[in-house]
Amino acid sequence: MTETSVPPLVPSRTEGNIADYVVGWAEREPGRPMMAVRTADGWADVSAAELHERVVGLARGFVAAGIEAGDRVAIMSRTRMEWALADFALWMVGAVPVPVYETSSRSQVEHILRDSRAVAAIVEEQAQTALVSSLHDALPDLHDVWQIEAGALDELSAAGVDVDLALVEARRAAVSRSDLASIIYTSGTTGDPKGCELTHGNFMALAENTAERLPEIARAPGASTLLFLPLAHVFARLVQVLAVHAGLRVGHTPDPADLLEDLATYRPTFLLAVPRVFEKIYNGAESKAQAAGRGQVFRWAARVARDYSQALSDGGPGLALRAQHSIADRLVYARLRAAMGGRVTYAISGGAALGERLGHFFRGIGLVVLEGYGMTETTAPATVNTPDMIRIGTVGRPLPGVAVRVDDDGEVWVRGINVFRGYHGQAEATAQARQDGWLRTGDLGALDPEGFLTITGRTKELLVTAGGKNVSPGPLEDRLRAHPLVSQCIVVGDGRPFVGALVTLDTEMLPTWAAGRGRPGLTVSEAVTDEEVLAEVQRAVDEANAAVSRAESIRSFRLLAEDFTIDNGMLTPSMKLKRQRITDALQDEIERLYARA
Ligand code: AMP
Repeated sequence: MTETSVPPLVPSRTEGNIADYVVGWAEREPGRPMMAVRTADGWADVSAAELHERVVGLARGFVAAGIEAGDRVAIMSRTRMEWALADFALWMVGAVPVPVYETSSRSQVEHILRDSRAVAAIVEEQAQTALVSSLHDALPDLHDVWQIEAGALDELSAAGVDVDLALVEARRAAVSRSDLASIIYTSGTTGDPKGCELTHGNFMALAENTAERLPEIARAPGASTLLFLPLAHVFARLVQVLAVHAGLRVGHTPDPADLLEDLATYRPTFLLAVPRVFEKIYNGAESKAQAAGRGQVFRWAARVARDYSQALSDGGPGLALRAQHSIADRLVYARLRAAMGGRVTYAISGGAALGERLGHFFRGIGLVVLEGYGMTETTAPATVNTPDMIRIGTVGRPLPGVAVRVDDDGEVWVRGINVFRGYHGQAEATAQARQDGWLRTGDLGALDPEGFLTITGRTKELLVTAGGKNVSPGPLEDRLRAHPLVSQCIVVGDGRPFVGALVTLDTEMLPTWAAGRGRPGLTVSEAVTDEEVLAEVQRAVDEANAAVSRAESIRSFRLLAEDFTIDNGMLTPSMKLKRQRITDALQDEIERLYARA
């Protein structure tokens, strides 16, 4: 067993809550730009005083609407400023926001609202209003649905103008760090998603210690970031809290299609992203260069960037490499940095493995990507690389106030300020996950002598796509296998841009099915590329996808001529998929699946 811990940089406290950050800045520095909204003529700053006014206005509205301390209120929206306003206003009155992905399926939304016993839901647009309203009858606790785009938040504030400010103050004063701040649902390996209970203290202690540990990011003069990852995920949410704590300006990009334009106009100084985003930036730049007949130059410059960064880790680049690097900088890197607004020097990557290649490339072009690691149960990061202690390929050292242990089976455990209270209403699952204050992560890793953690795999049956989306393959496979033509299937997508599936055909059903369509004699090897068979399996895929969110759904599949059996070593005696075995043996098929898509 190996273990390492880093003492907290900020002493632990019990008093106060997240909403105090908003009040504090409004008192200390009312003119400080805290957020920015995109308008027709650029970005308009929202000062600390304005932020405070809007949050308090909404808090009064919630009180007027009957929201009590401890009440759960769902938020189902893309990433936008209104989400942050709702979060802080709910925290101010002691209520508990419960995030829901805007892409969630009906059954997922129903499960989250029922399990959390949400009394109200804030949604973004009409389709979500319709979805949540249609669940009204099934959810006795749910009283209100407020639609952002229909102006519901303004209406709430307007309805709250008569609420005594002293009442809101009293509510705020009653909320302490040990109180529940949010319940965030995560797809576990089995059963329905579980609600992680995170306290005000989890968010605050982690935000305060992280800001202290990363002054290059949090305390840089004029620091600003553009949030485009979903606020429904804990990572963006923690950064939102950290930003308001540290007083660094935040803009929001709801639609990923606007990201490039927003980066260029907003010009953030640091970014938060998942590996998929870095991959997209890289691929986009390469194909653009290729189209302009500069493909070779780009590839050369990319190699120089990687070599340069590698050399920074191994004693420093020599004269020749420095010269090449400065030419490549003028020819290629400067354009890339300009496309991201020209001011961004640091980015944090988490949620899935970044890979050394991208890590070195970006550092080589002048954007240091600090990889971190964590999970919803650890309020996002448990470890992170820092500018003064960076080792590309690792996920860094524990944050201050956090301890990491790797047990004799290679499993990573985490303890500290960021570890959640437990799963909502699930004492048994909580007891399994938390032992003696330690959280079992289900991830496999290794610690080096200096305390840098490397993630090497996962004990749990969970795929994490390059976009950081956790996908539990079991339920999708179960549904897909239910189709008569399907014998076995395996859902893949770990570290990939999207979820895919390899599907085998039921050789007993195939003749019947084919005969029914006037095609007797269709063989399995013909069937795997047959248009009609493919269309039939596509229907089965569509049905399986209906149970999950878009990001978790199967986008592409391939049919295989050979079934998975116990005999060929692909199934266990209890007929469970031997995942590693299958993915190793069918590596080529998987590559083809992604190459074709
Ligand atoms: P979530 O609770 O949705 O944030 O998912 C957390 C899981 O994502 C972790 O348990 C890991 O399996 C995976 N993960 C997060 N960060 C990394 C990383 N830097 N490298 C590899 N896997 C990661």
